[in-house]
Parts: sequence; C-alpha cells; structure tokens
Amino acid sequence: QSLTRYRETWIEISLDAIKHNVRQFKQFIDPATRLMAVVKADGYGHGAVVAANAALEAGADYLAVALLEEALELRATGIRAPILVLGAIPLSAIRAAIEADISITAISSDMVREAAAQSTALKKSAVLHLKVDTGMSRLGVSSKEEVLAIANLARSYAQLRIEGIFTHLAYADGEDPTYSRLQFSRFQETLDYLEEAGHCIEIKHCCNSAGTMNFPEMHLDMVRIGIALYGLYPAETLKISHPIRLKQAFRMLTRISALKRIPGNQPVGYGCTSVSNTERTIAVLPAGYADGISRLLSNRGGVRVRGQAAPIVGRVCMDQTMIDVTGIAECRLGDEVVLIGTEDSGPAALDNIAELMGTINYEVICLIGGRTPRVFV
Ligand code: PLP
Repeated sequence: QSLTRYRETWIEISLDAIKHNVRQFKQFIDPATRLMAVVKADGYGHGAVVAANAALEAGADYLAVALLEEALELRATGIRAPILVLGAIPLSAIRAAIEADISITAISSDMVREAAAQSTALKKSAVLHLKVDTGMSRLGVSSKEEVLAIANLARSYAQLRIEGIFTHLAYADGEDPTYSRLQFSRFQETLDYLEEAGHCIEIKHCCNSAGTMNFPEMHLDMVRIGIALYGLYPAETLKISHPIRLKQAFRMLTRISALKRIPGNQPVGYGCTSVSNTERTIAVLPAGYADGISRLLSNRGGVRVRGQAAPIVGRVCMDQTMIDVTGIAECRLGDEVVLIGTEDSGPAALDNIAELMGTINYEVICLIGGRTPRVFV
C-alpha cells in the first residue's frame, strides 16, 4: 500500500487482539496440540502477512491458506513457518508448492503421483496432508479404503511425507453436537484403519474455531483457528458462554466529509428512498459499497458518531454513504465515525451488521476489499 494516505476511511487492525486470541486458545488446548492460524482470504480481510506474523509471535505453530498464491505471498515476505494450502491446488501448481516448501492437501492419487514426480525433479521432498470427507460433502476422500490407497501410494515414494491427515466439520457451530460427533467417529475410523495398515501420521486435525471451542475431545494433534483468531465468535452461544474471551481485531472508521441541513420532504440518495416531512441534518461519509459497506444496509444499518448511533439514510452508494445526525447537535465536519466496530458500537457492531445483512460475520469482513487502507495498531 502507498505510504501516502489521502482518504479518510481506514481499517484499524489490533495486532494485540490477534495475539491475545492466540494466547487464549493456547491456554485452552493441550500443550501438545498445535495451533494452526488460518489466514486465508487476506487474513479474513485483516491483512494476511501481518495477521500471520502476529499469530506466530503469539505462539501459532502452523499457518493455513486457501490458495497457493496466498501461501507464496507469505513466503515472499520471509515467513518460514510451515504453511498448508487447505484448498485443492491444480496439478500444474504442485511444483511451485514444493519449491516454496508449502504443504499440500492431497485428495487424489493423481495429486500424489504428480507430487512424487515434481519432488524427484526438484530433488526436494514434498509434504502432504490427506483430506478426508467425513460428511461435509466438500473437499476430501470419502471412503477409508480410498484414503488408504492414496496413503499407500504416497508411502511408496520415499520423497513424499504424509505429515498430516484432516477433515472438516460441517456443523461445529450448531447447537446440536450429533453431526460433529458422527463426523469425528468416521474420521477416527479412518485413522484406525490407516494405523492398522502401518501408517503413523504425525498431525491429525479436524477442528475449526467452533469445533475447538465446543469439542475439546476432538482437538487431536492440531486445531485450525480462523474466525476466532480475529476475535469473532463463530456462534452467538459461544460469545455468551464460552470461557475463551476473544478481542475483536477489526474496526472500520471514516470521517464526515460533508454536513448539510435539508428541508422536509427532500429525499436522500439514489432512488429517493429516504424522505422525512421534517428538516434533517445529513452527514456524508466517504465510504460505500465499493469499500464493503453493503448496499443491504441502505435505510437499515447505522453507524456510531460521537458515542451515539446514527442511522444510514437512503441507499448506500458506491463510494459514499449518508447518515442522519439530526439528533446529534454537536456533530462536526471531520468527526470520526465507526462504520464497523466492536460490540459496544451499537448498530455498527460487526455482528449486528452481519445480522442486518442476513449473513455471518465472516462474510462482512471478507467483503472489505483492498481499496481501504489498513492501519495496524
Ligand atoms: N479449516 C478449514 C478446512 C477451513 O476451510 C476453514 C475455514 O473455512 C477453517 C479451518 C477455519 O474455520 P473458522 O474460521 O471457522 O475457524
């Protein structure tokens, strides 16, 4: 990002919060269980490199991303920690992964063969984590027989190392643990089956943030912490009752760029969707849906200014948003406004915004694109 920053909209990321969250989990899990910090999607919108470094500093053992490109970005900045690409990389990308010491999620015999071939060509060993589908119906091999066949194939190549094996829980954030337990028992069955065939795999893992918080008995050798790394709870119930106390790292702020008094019956914004029969004071904010302030918040969302809630009026525009500050007499041009904030931010609380948008907190932060500069505090 350019060092010169003109625009008065920014994202503030608290690295202390990320470190605090890692430490909370480190205290919660067994000392022998590794902590994998999931920094895919640019660290859930927080900045992958900075989030990864903060997590490592606080004791994370492993990093995870979704794409090889994301892993290479981390390596390019000098991060030496192990990195797993959770997604399926194409066969053509396997060479680049091995070259950069990136661990590969293996989901087919073809991937294993290609890894072996590239590993031989590069004279460099390749690290694999086998992915098992225990009921998410997403990535991974479903039958234990097929998992064993792939594991046996990998074992036949000296240059390949099956370092890990993992699965992903579909409903770890739910109220009912039945499906998670079923998935875990299927995973355990596959692990036993491999063990009987002489496979001894070092890192077995299945828990995301919610799984880690809800099911200590499923932690195995490593837990994969994504959303909670950033201080967001994967479920409301966990926010209320779980002993792990998280600190939200993300806030989005702006400053009032124009302030005007409009007469009664004058509408605000595109489509003239907000009309009042009384006079209003409207503040214009220099951020819009191109910055991740969803248009779904039009006439529904709110922000926090001078410690008070102010509603978004009219439609959120691409680069600007209007709020009604009629009731906030002391409001001035240049006042700081919380667009997305922590729990105490009233209508601008991240989880409240997610609810208004009919989505989850994960999506709200991932929608914030690269146009808004991030400031790390
Ligand atoms: N593991 C896998 C395979 C994932 O896809 C994800 C994220 O979607 C995570 C772990 C982290 O999940 P969460 O952000 O819920 O902790």
